[in-house]
Amino acid sequence: MVIACPSCNGLNRLPTQKPALEARCGKCKQPLFSGEPLELTAANFSAHANKSELPLVVDFWAGWCGPCQSFAPVFSQAARELEPHFRFGKINTEQQQQLAAQFNIRSIPTLMLFKQGKVVAQQAGALPKQAFYQWLSQYK
Ligand SMILES: [Zn+2]
Repeated sequence: MVIACPSCNGLNRLPTQKPALEARCGKCKQPLFSGEPLELTAANFSAHANKSELPLVVDFWAGWCGPCQSFAPVFSQAARELEPHFRFGKINTEQQQQLAAQFNIRSIPTLMLFKQGKVVAQQAGALPKQAFYQWLSQYK
């Protein structure tokens, strides 16, 4: 499976029989999984959404949005618990207006699941932890 490095965005081919959580990037030697959501920007989005074969879960959020703040710990916990099945990324819609426009984000938080560049699922509004995990489990 091809996985983009969260540190340098370099692409790594990971043999399926190797434990993914212990894998390090061939380029920068940093771990391929950190257990934390990745900050996505116009610069690194394509590597993780299009080139990586790992499903990418994106939380479109903004600093002024209360429901985003309350959902943030759930999203972080999911990154700790559900890697390496998914990559978790956050897009700050105030800073990344181009990405927010590209995906037509009208309400936040919006959750989106990408598989190799395609949006396979979309959810407007935050979910409680259990519902979020259930939503994700369909796309593992
Ligand atoms: Zn790297």
